[in-house]
Amino acid sequence: MIRFEKFQEAAILHNPLNGFELEAQPVEYRVDPISGHVSSFHTRPTRPPVIFKTDDAVIEKLNREKSEGCLFCPDKVITAAPKFPAELIPEGRLTRGEATMFPNLFAQKGHSAVIVLTRKHFLHLNEFHPEVLYDALKLADIYLRRCYEVDGIKYADIGENYLYPSGSSIPHPHIQALASHWPYYLIKLYMENAKKHYQKYSQNYWDELVKKEKRLKERYLGRLGSTEWFVPFAPSRHDEVNFVVRGKSNFLEFDDSDLRNLADGLSRVLKAYHANGLSSFNFAIYSGPLGRKLNYLWAGGKIVSRSSIQTYPTSDIWYGPNILLYGFITMTPENLAESIRPYFTQ
Ligand SMILES: [Zn+2]
Repeated sequence: MIRFEKFQEAAILHNPLNGFELEAQPVEYRVDPISGHVSSFHTRPTRPPVIFKTDDAVIEKLNREKSEGCLFCPDKVITAAPKFPAELIPEGRLTRGEATMFPNLFAQKGHSAVIVLTRKHFLHLNEFHPEVLYDALKLADIYLRRCYEVDGIKYADIGENYLYPSGSSIPHPHIQALASHWPYYLIKLYMENAKKHYQKYSQNYWDELVKKEKRLKERYLGRLGSTEWFVPFAPSRHDEVNFVVRGKSNFLEFDDSDLRNLADGLSRVLKAYHANGLSSFNFAIYSGPLGRKLNYLWAGGKIVSRSSIQTYPTSDIWYGPNILLYGFITMTPENLAESIRPYFTQ
């Protein structure tokens, strides 16, 4: 049985912004039921505008900026991008629609692919259309299946860093597909804890979670085909939306409709981010061990906003999340869900 644990405190201060009146700032701590990760937030939303306010002039500069020298622009990709060894991808690089896939020049794992989404050097967040994301996800799917067939890799992830505050050094929109014989921390934690949950309650954790969120109607966003979308009870990061693929524990079980629904959902969240004035994000899609069906695990992912584009951006990751591994968010999960839900009902 899933329990949503929360605790409340108040920070007492004389506030100079209010004539030094004594005030109590309500703070809530929440525990994520599957990971045990703790997050806190003001129950009166206080998003600091300085971090999340996009400077449109900087965006316009990026948009106008000559793509000269960009390795991901169409002329450079076909002449300068790295190529895969023939035993992995005989064509060297793969393309689909406007998307092109090639190896990462600076690999993070034993298998590291980059997939450039589009010929355009820059996209606003409301321009990440489902078909653009689908073509890229399809190439990632082909790549990871190939890595599994050739090298027997078990652990894979697909993700995107968009614009400089997200960790990306190249603004040209691209995703990554990574694979290794060793698990990353999140999937290891989910596998261990979801297995315990299944053994104790004879229920898949995410099946139970989605039912609970649907019943509560506080954070649930919607279902797209086999994918379920919701704001988590205890988000680790700003504007965090979670998603799962019903009944599928690893990428090899995904079919085309799953990839299309993932692309559709990500595109909807990004439209909501755009409308909320955001400009930078990360998303990551995780998978259980490839080729091994686990009844207690559902594959899924998370999308989060990052500090917005500004001349001198302030990072949203300070020492708490970066070193001490606690979450701090500036909008309540319920308010966030309310602002994103309309994009899942259209
Ligand atoms: Zn470019």
